[in-house]
Amino acid sequence: MSGSMQGGASRKVAIAGGGIPGLSLALALRQAHGDALDVTVFDPGLDRAALRHRGRAFAVAAGGRRMLTRLGIWADVAHAAEPILDMAISDSRLSDPVRPVFLTFGQDGTGETPPAGEPFAHMVEAEFLVDSLLAASRAVGVAFEPVGIRHAQASGRSMALALSDGRETDATLLVAADGARSRLREAAGIGWVGRSYPQMGIVATIGHERPHGGRAFEHFLPSGPFAILPLVDGGVLSHRSSIVWTEREADVEALIGGSREDTLTEIERRFGLNLGRLVIEDGPSAHPLSLGMARSFRGERLALLGDAAHVIHPIAGQGLNLGLADAASLAEEITEALRLGLDPGAKDVLQRYERSRRFDTFAMAAVTDGLNRLFSNDILPIRLMRDLGLGLVDRMPGLKSVFIGEASASRGASRGASPRLMRGEAL
Ligand SMILES: Cc1cc2nc3c(=O)[nH]c(=O)nc-3n(C[C@H](O)[C@H](O)[C@H](O)COP(=O)(O)OP(=O)(O)OC[C@H]3O[C@@H](n4cnc5c(N)ncnc54)[C@H](O)[C@@H]3O)c2cc1C
Repeated sequence: MSGSMQGGASRKVAIAGGGIPGLSLALALRQAHGDALDVTVFDPGLDRAALRHRGRAFAVAAGGRRMLTRLGIWADVAHAAEPILDMAISDSRLSDPVRPVFLTFGQDGTGETPPAGEPFAHMVEAEFLVDSLLAASRAVGVAFEPVGIRHAQASGRSMALALSDGRETDATLLVAADGARSRLREAAGIGWVGRSYPQMGIVATIGHERPHGGRAFEHFLPSGPFAILPLVDGGVLSHRSSIVWTEREADVEALIGGSREDTLTEIERRFGLNLGRLVIEDGPSAHPLSLGMARSFRGERLALLGDAAHVIHPIAGQGLNLGLADAASLAEEITEALRLGLDPGAKDVLQRYERSRRFDTFAMAAVTDGLNRLFSNDILPIRLMRDLGLGLVDRMPGLKSVFIGEASASRGASRGASPRLMRGEAL
């Protein structure tokens, strides 16, 4: 039919959104089911996908790395992935001459060690990850449509999809991986509980003279955390780190809107000069920050994935890790249904997906929000309490595991085990 895509197959998964979680789900499904399952990724920004991620780097926790290894992606991105071997946390004011480190954890016996032989996370440059996911997905027959899904309507055993270029198609299951402001979530009438932080997240790549030694820093400053995260060597000064710098929204323009020299001076005040001379290699770019969670992770023949389902503060670098865990869990539920000859868009399949993710997500959202509230202020009694608290944190493996991404991002709490892909196992 003219103006219409081929429809009618009984097993078709349509994924709206070609971000890292959406692409990971597409690849996992197609690898597991081959031609038995049509998988199409719709995204109007597909041709700019890698570009959109240029200069961004994400902390990918051990579960995410195991998943990407199982999907055959890790070997491809290993050249752009720096292991985080150690992390140090300090709590101070900008004017403090020294920043005592309250909490360290790494592989040197000073704190909790990650799972046997594994760094607790890697800093991965996102454009390489996206490129690799796109290439691997194409190679296994994932279809790509560089258009948005404008409207979706479930009817019986299928979902009718209206595309932004006027065509129509259908799917057994629609996955909304269309980001925090998901139109598909809204159109399905799924509520969103959340609020904006009066802060922005500034990200940049910083070149420095001395090697970082795989150590990450999180400086809790009164306006918000300032994280320094190790990247693979390169750039004009041979060594690089990524910064994630949280500032009050009202101050951002003054801090990064002026000359490059002024911005660098502000970065140096926070970064310190332990790693020698600094240069800005990439960025800075500022991103609004919010906390939010969909009232449900599913609708009729609809599953929400990644930021479309939840958005958290980047204080512990876990937003994408939650999205990867969503993809692993949804791929597992769809696979189990297909193996039993069941409808992968059926209500009980989606309910199981939701159950496997809801608790984890809620726990991570609550903890990151709590940490941000506790640390992003300069009220003396609170400072004293939290400095005592950091000593306690050092003895609390539960809270430490938030920072190393093993707390909930990779564990399906309701099942007591992480999804198979996050354990590095096949679907
Ligand atoms: C400052 C900052 C630092 C962060 N650092 C980390 C970190 O270190 N580690 C970590 O785990 N997480 C981190 N995060 C979180 C991480 O960036 C997000 O969780 C992740 O990028 C979300 O991916 P997504 O694909 O769900 O959404 P997005 O990346 O927003 O992608 C949504 C996609 O959907 C497409 N789309 C939109 N509408 C439609 C439509 N109607 N039809 C089809 N497609 C559509 C868009 O074009 C886009 O490609 C950070 C976040 C911030 C703000």
